[in-house]
Amino acid sequence: MPSDLVIVYHRQPYEEVEENGKTVFKENKSPNGIVPTLKSFFGRVENAAWVAWKQAEDPANPQFERVVQIEDSFGKYTVSRLPLTAEQVSSFYHVTSKEAFWPILHGFKEKYNYDPVDWDTFRHVNQEFAQAAAAEADHGAAVWVHDYNLWLVPGILRQLRPDLRISFFHHTPFPAADMFNVLPWRGEIIDSLLACDVVGFHIPRYASNFVSVVRSLRDVGQVPRIAVDPDFISEGSALSDRTVPKQIETEERTVRLGVSPVGVDTGYIRSVAERPETSERTESFLKAMGGRRLILSVGRTDYTKGGAEQLLTFERLLEKHPEYRETVKLLHVSVSANRNMTAYEEIQREIEEIAGRINGRFATFERTPVSLISNAIPFTDLVSYYRAADVVWITPLADGMNLVCKEFIAARSDEDGVVVLSEFAGAAIELSSAILTNPYSHKNMDHAIEAALTMSEENRRMRMKDLRRVVEKYNTQAWAQDQLALLSPEDFGGDTEA
Ligand code: UDP
Repeated sequence: MPSDLVIVYHRQPYEEVEENGKTVFKENKSPNGIVPTLKSFFGRVENAAWVAWKQAEDPANPQFERVVQIEDSFGKYTVSRLPLTAEQVSSFYHVTSKEAFWPILHGFKEKYNYDPVDWDTFRHVNQEFAQAAAAEADHGAAVWVHDYNLWLVPGILRQLRPDLRISFFHHTPFPAADMFNVLPWRGEIIDSLLACDVVGFHIPRYASNFVSVVRSLRDVGQVPRIAVDPDFISEGSALSDRTVPKQIETEERTVRLGVSPVGVDTGYIRSVAERPETSERTESFLKAMGGRRLILSVGRTDYTKGGAEQLLTFERLLEKHPEYRETVKLLHVSVSANRNMTAYEEIQREIEEIAGRINGRFATFERTPVSLISNAIPFTDLVSYYRAADVVWITPLADGMNLVCKEFIAARSDEDGVVVLSEFAGAAIELSSAILTNPYSHKNMDHAIEAALTMSEENRRMRMKDLRRVVEKYNTQAWAQDQLALLSPEDFGGDTEA
């Protein structure tokens, strides 16, 4: 049956496992990350479909099951799977998206690798996604495309199906023109995005940067049919006091710019936090800590995440304050990337080296100052760490939003705990009651972690109360509602309260 809402995101919305020779679709247990965020909207929309890729040895094999019907706690939905070979996945995702787009989106020109990009393959894969979305969508349906690895989908889809309402959301930062225009395919990408009815970003700065890119390309004639609307207005239920660009006028349409910072599933996190087994695990972590205070850092091993800068700050803290060597522990969860890329191998080695050196310098038989974990921790266990930690320390050099800090806040129904957060995480714009820090400044980083460790209980609680108010109010549902209401007010408008 054709769908009223088609979500186009490159990953499948479940884990597919083999059990007793049969394929079973298991619910993805993590309540965050893009997949669960998007699925949380399914319960509200009948007839929704999802388009993703699935690796196939022979994409032409007629046995390949392209369309599957799923029913799980999020509702009933259709998943259309594109069969891609391992080579296509590697080219479109690991090479073009991760080696060329990712560093530019995050402002790391020096990591940008243009040579191995095969643009024809990237275009071909995007074309297949667009065709699959066109095949699922009912007349006039809403199609919601997610993230930079599908940048060309809107343009192709608009050609195939002019009747559709198309929205695109960026889950990463969007850089200013000087950075974005490094990409040789900039004109084609922007042309495609301007075929959307709505282009969405987490924060106003990313939307303004997008406008700056469009202007710069118009000025050199690369996207000629544009008149950038100079009308910047204050709008948006989460950031109502901010000035954000509203729309771009092209010859064909008005492209509305949506600014909504993605939230976390606060209800789910609360329910995990309140489980008896979560409390038991928290108690056992606290017992193992033996009265020491816990600083928690959680992220992927990625040069954008500031892991090395953070560990070096911790080393300086222990040098300067010997009293912390035996009274504070840093649990640094840095989940290794599962791919052979030099940039990720370098940062992994650096993190292991610094953590090893800190322990070599300051560990005693009983106490190890840093525990480094490279394997992913199941989300339910992570919530126990959130509950046990005195401080969550998140220091990316660039990060579209950062969900870990919001999850920590949502898990702290005891209204205690300190958040130290990089100014360069999108979340910083909402979380002004965190201790905001600049990971490019030693002095500032030192000061921020010292302030967190010496903060009075009264101050901690006051700040956490305020942080919880923000995170509880603008959760995943409110975010999706806001974005989709821009696309189709008549279907999705209305109450955006959690
Ligand atoms: N996460 C997890 N286990 C881990 C580390 C991270 O489940 O060991 C989850 C974490 O709870 C969060 C997500 O991975 O939901 C990371 O999202 P974030 O926005 O912080 O960073 P990203 O990896 O998307 O850049």
